[in-house]
This record gives sequence, structure tokens and C-alpha cells, in this order.
Amino acid sequence: MKRITIKVGSSVLTEKNAIAMERMLNLVSLIIKLKKKYEVILVSSGAVAAGYTALRLDRKKNIGKKVLAAVGQPILMSSYKQLFDIYNTDISQILTTEEDFDSITHVDIFKRIIDTQLENDIFPIVNENDITTTSDQLFGDNDQLSAHVAYYTNSDLLVIMSDIQGYYDKNPSKFNDAKIIRHISHIPDEALNQEVTPMHEFATGGIVTKLKAAHYLLNKDRKMFLCSGFDLNSAEDFLLHGKQSKGTLFSKRSDDEF
Ligand code: ADP
Repeated sequence: MKRITIKVGSSVLTEKNAIAMERMLNLVSLIIKLKKKYEVILVSSGAVAAGYTALRLDRKKNIGKKVLAAVGQPILMSSYKQLFDIYNTDISQILTTEEDFDSITHVDIFKRIIDTQLENDIFPIVNENDITTTSDQLFGDNDQLSAHVAYYTNSDLLVIMSDIQGYYDKNPSKFNDAKIIRHISHIPDEALNQEVTPMHEFATGGIVTKLKAAHYLLNKDRKMFLCSGFDLNSAEDFLLHGKQSKGTLFSKRSDDEF
């Protein structure tokens, strides 16, 4: 069975200071379908935004963000649990840091935890443990974390679900005539060094961290698919029907399929 890692952004999971339960349910329903064909791992953002639903602290201050993440992590996970329970699927929570990926021992433990959970039909949900860590121990965004998770768990593909339909030739929130690029095999340095442009209050990366994630995987001859987390049709078409209706595939060769 092929293995995929899916990363979903906070813009998809939260709406007006609350968990967007309907969108989360759509995601969970898609994951249940995907599990028949793939081993699936989820990297989920949204803890800080979920924390803000219970406690109004300034998330821009480092300690505020950490407190919100600590408050929000159980809110986020109980929302997932409620929805996965509908499908009698048990979930797990795995919190990790960038530093963990520097150590062969930690990477090995991480991979064995994921492998054992998948073998036992437990659905793994990964997030960055930004609560007691310092900023240099962290990626700071789940795009790059998910690329490492995909690589070290031997996933065949990373799927990043965001608030956009793919990677455009220019910023789609500024230019109406921006067009989706269907396939990318190389990311130029200037694109990786652009200013970070998150769209939403709780987003951290913007397009640059998604390109960095793709760059990391391309260098290792792995693939990444960037698509919408609002309209899941393109993810479903691509992953279940072998059809790329929308979305951007990052892969070394232009004739690559998944
Ligand atoms: P998420 O919470 O899903 O990680 P972000 O807000 O961090 O989402 O990143 C997605 C945003 O990046 C989009 O809403 C879009 O406005 C912005 N963006 C800038 N340039 C581009 C581009 N060339 N293609 C797609 N999105 C872009």
C-alpha cells in the first residue's frame, strides 16, 4: 500500500475564532475513504487558533502563543476524536519538534511509532510541540514539518491542503488573472527567499514555506501535491481517481503521475 502524509492549514480548520467543524468533517470523511487505498498520516495545524476560542491572549507574544497552543491542542484533538468516532476510528496525537529530526535515534523512534500505529489501524495526527520549546528547536510552520514527516516516514507523497487551489504564477489574492501551475519540477532560489506571506491571522507560513517543503522533497526525489482544503474535490480526484482536475504537483519529471 502506498503511504501519504496530508498537511492541513489553520485557515481550513478554523473560521471566525472557532473550529470549522463542517470542513473538518469533510476532511475526516475524505481520510476515511483514502484509508482504503493508502496508509495515511495527518499533520494538523490549528492548535493556536483553537486555543483562542477559549482564551483571548495575544498570540503574537511568544508566551501567549505557547499558552494558546497548550489550551488549543486538546480542543483540536477532541474535535478530531468526535469526528473520527463517527467512523469508529481511533486516533493518536504525536507532538514533535525540528530538533527531533536531527537525531537518528529520535527519527527512528518517530518512524516506529507511526509504523506501529498504522499497522494497528490507529490514525496518527502530528503537530509541532511548540509549548515548552524555544524557537530554534522548531520549524515554526507545519509545511516544513510535514515535509520532514513525509520523508522520514517514507511517504510516497505529501499533500498540502490550503486556502488556495494550487501554486499560481502570481499571488492569487492580489491578481485576478493569476493562473494555477499544474506541474513544477524545480523551485528557483528567488522564490524560496521571498517574503513570508501568510493570509490569515493564524497562518504562519504563506506560500514560501510550502515552496520550501516542496524544495526539500524534490531534492530527495519525492513528490508533493498542493491543493485546496476548502473544496476537497481536487484532492479526491487526484488521490482516488488518478485525475488532476486542479492543484499543483511538485515532482522531478513532468510525466510523473501518482
Ligand atoms: P495555510 O494556513 O493553509 O498554511 P497560508 O495563508 O499560510 O495558508 O498560505 C497560503 C496563502 O499564500 C494564499 O492564501 C495566498 O494568498 C498566498 N500566496 C502568495 N503567493 C502565492 C502563489 N504564487 N500561489 C498561491 N498562493 C500564494
